[in-house]
Amino acid sequence: MTRTAVLGAGLAGLAAATELVRAGHDVTVFEARDRVGGRVWSETFSAAGELHVIERGAEFVLGGYATLREYCREHGLELVDTGMSYYVRTPADRPDVSTHAMATLGQRAARAVAAGSGPRSVADVLDVIDVEGDTREALESRIEMSTAVLVDQVTAEGTLDHVASFDPQPSWRIGGGNQHLPDAMASVLGDAIRLNSKVEAALQHGDKVVVTAGGEDEYFDYAVVALPFGILIDPTSLRIDIPGWKREAMSRVVQGNAAKLHLALDEVPQTSALMSVSGRFWTWTANGPGGTVAPVLNCFGGEIGHLLRLGIDRGAREWEGEVRDLRADLAIGPARAVLTNWPFDPLARGAYTAHAPGFSVADAEALASAHGRLYFAGEYIDAEFTGLMEGALRSGHSAAAALIAAESKVAA
Ligand SMILES: Cc1cc2nc3c(=O)[nH]c(=O)nc-3n(C[C@H](O)[C@H](O)[C@H](O)COP(=O)(O)OP(=O)(O)OC[C@H]3O[C@@H](n4cnc5c(N)ncnc54)[C@H](O)[C@@H]3O)c2cc1C
Repeated sequence: MTRTAVLGAGLAGLAAATELVRAGHDVTVFEARDRVGGRVWSETFSAAGELHVIERGAEFVLGGYATLREYCREHGLELVDTGMSYYVRTPADRPDVSTHAMATLGQRAARAVAAGSGPRSVADVLDVIDVEGDTREALESRIEMSTAVLVDQVTAEGTLDHVASFDPQPSWRIGGGNQHLPDAMASVLGDAIRLNSKVEAALQHGDKVVVTAGGEDEYFDYAVVALPFGILIDPTSLRIDIPGWKREAMSRVVQGNAAKLHLALDEVPQTSALMSVSGRFWTWTANGPGGTVAPVLNCFGGEIGHLLRLGIDRGAREWEGEVRDLRADLAIGPARAVLTNWPFDPLARGAYTAHAPGFSVADAEALASAHGRLYFAGEYIDAEFTGLMEGALRSGHSAAAALIAAESKVAA
């Protein structure tokens, strides 16, 4: 029986492990945390005298999430409509700017990208169409908070399409919490998963991969590396065999940083989505599982410089103050806010990735390619759904399929 190690039990690792077990591999999943799911992390939160589920990591299931929907179907999990749209956010601190004006500018910029040539950042394209003022600032803010990097660090290709819609398309969450999906996948994998097992090294040795965890070496036929990009680019976090051609492609991937804040409301609000242009954060209220709005104010801020200006390295207080000013329309209670600080999480080292200007199809292929007996999965690999839960699942699925195909070629 082929022995395969999977490093990381986020959605990418769990998808890879699921498919490999189905193909008859003897799989061991190494996970450093005491839970599966990685950047999918749901918890309960008390507000207005009841417990509600909050998403401390990934939240929205968006259009085109075919793989996530398929895994949810397999595990009997339902998607719940949030009743608001992830895509449309009112710029509350710029009353003269409408969401329509932002989307129209986004569409103009997207047309300029389609007409132009050569690698360009979002900032370059906005310069070319020669637009200044509050609408540009609001659009830049919207892009920086979603990509979690600065507009001059991220490629214009694809990025602008995402914000160029003022059609309030629906967005969903997994009923009872997104964490139900990794938990369900893990329960089928059972003993294959080893929690609290931090990998220190994954190195190829002859026709084996040696995985070191807790100072112990273990030999496998293959490994699927499903660790966060922020871990892989830090040479101090683990010893791993990544070739120069893959590192070259990785140099055109940018690590985004984001944090979330949750505040309890004393009264049930309407659904809403309001952003702070200056603060580079947005806030929303959404339906809970029963189809009624939860008395929870969810906040998301993006890009490390902006997050540090919100004082996230000093705790929740400063950001909470800005949120209270922005959302004076809501009855925010006195309870302690919950801050989730992804940039300082040592097992994530950031939120998710984006592509730098110049990122190419060849780079996408290099990221997805195996190196000897090491296969790679993770949100940073899937070119279409980069940075998202769907991308993580697809990358795990693809890595397992490539490994199974390569193995059957060797066997033939
Ligand atoms: C704040 C935030 C909001 C987001 N919002 C959305 C959203 O609305 N919609 C959406 O689709 N996506 C969203 N995402 C992105 C989504 O969470 C990720 O794309 C996806 O969960 C990544 O899965 P992964 O398996 O690639 O990585 P991870 O989930 O990070 O899994 C990697 C695993 O490796 C483990 N690990 C790390 N180091 C080691 C080691 N040395 N040894 C063993 N294990 C190790 C980690 O603990 C982790 O469990 C959001 C992410 C964040 C942070």
